[in-house]
Amino acid sequence: MTHSRLWPVRSVGPDRSGQDPTAPRHDSVTATDFDAIFSAQIRALKDDGNYRIFADLERLRTRRPMASSHGPDGVSDVTIWCSNDYLGMAQSETVVSAAREALERYGVGSGGTRNISGTNHCHVLLERELAELHGKEAALIFTSGYIANWSTLSTLGSRIPGTVILSDAANHASMIQGIRHSGAAKMIFRHNDVRDLDKKLAECPPEAPKIVAFESLYSMDGDIAPIAEICDVAERHGAMTYLDEVHAVGLYGPEGAGIAAREGVADRVTIIEGTLAKAFGCLGGYIAASRLCCDFVRSFASGFIFTTSLPPAVASGALAAVRHLRASDEERRRHQRQVARLRRGLDRAGIPHIGEDSHIVAVLIKDPVKCRQISDILRDDYGIYVTPINYPTVPKGTERLRITPSPLHSDRDIDHLVRALSALWSQCALSRAVA
Ligand SMILES: *Cc1c(COP(=O)(O)O)cnc(C)c1O
Repeated sequence: MTHSRLWPVRSVGPDRSGQDPTAPRHDSVTATDFDAIFSAQIRALKDDGNYRIFADLERLRTRRPMASSHGPDGVSDVTIWCSNDYLGMAQSETVVSAAREALERYGVGSGGTRNISGTNHCHVLLERELAELHGKEAALIFTSGYIANWSTLSTLGSRIPGTVILSDAANHASMIQGIRHSGAAKMIFRHNDVRDLDKKLAECPPEAPKIVAFESLYSMDGDIAPIAEICDVAERHGAMTYLDEVHAVGLYGPEGAGIAAREGVADRVTIIEGTLAKAFGCLGGYIAASRLCCDFVRSFASGFIFTTSLPPAVASGALAAVRHLRASDEERRRHQRQVARLRRGLDRAGIPHIGEDSHIVAVLIKDPVKCRQISDILRDDYGIYVTPINYPTVPKGTERLRITPSPLHSDRDIDHLVRALSALWSQCALSRAVA
């Protein structure tokens, strides 16, 4: 629109249908067979067993953690065992009633970007609450955790001249893409390896600004970063720290402030990034940091500026979730109890699992086809829904079932899952752990 005002209207060129009626058709031009490209690559995925099939579910509030599963043979009941709504907050009365009230009061859409009439009062309250949760001066919310990582890292990397970003080898795709997009120099340090980080920091030009980007709890293996040691090394080299606490906020630490807070080092982390979509059960992401740092990202991050803000009902639901989980330990306690019960059951059945220090119970299958088959049998024969995690979410050869027990799973649910896995273990001739 603006361009057609600035430039003379051309008499030839594409019309509104996107076709150029004046363009000559050359027989010498070879039309690209796009469909052939698409189908060849999809076929390769299928051949590797990595083609994704979505479960068509209705997560019914009245029956949580169950859902109706729509399959080719009709509708069946399944218990969900792989949700990132870790505490069941998405369907809780606390969150739903806050969202319902906001929906009635404000309607659905927020009305714009944050700059153009889209800053609703609930956004302001939510940012205040998140800053308090993490003991930081300020917070900034984004439309997702992915966008929070992508936008913040790409803004820091591109606008701080000469920056080097040191990135943990197991970092989430959103951080990797943000760093890549920033165009900043990048060094990858071995996963959770403080000595390798130290060595790589020492290799950077001493005068270069440095950012260490890592996660507190890695969501596929359930392992935890040595945050204090990473801060030690970063401080020694004058580096900023950027910590993704997406899988920890709401779940660990005092008031659910995360693992850095649990270890008493949150004040040493420059930027804490979190999501409102996992333990908080809604949608959206955020960073918490100094007022100046948040103002910087707010002022320059394209992924913050040029998109409509979160719907008020979602922001209000998230605010209620954060407030509730700051005040209540009950969900966290029951969550840990059910996780421990599942691990004990698996131990008794000799089924190996990893992620001991976390709520993520990863059962390695190490074969994409078997992993999918086991997932299918669990759903069809046992009413258990746990999605296979295959490449590229995890490296090839480490395919797994990633089980996330919640406070809503009963002891009977857990026992049923252990029995089903045990039966399948024999059926599929998978090796058992030696007790
Ligand atoms: C899920 C996830 C994100 C993205 O959060 P969303 O709010 O789902 O976009 C970021 N980092 C990690 C480690 C994640 O697992």
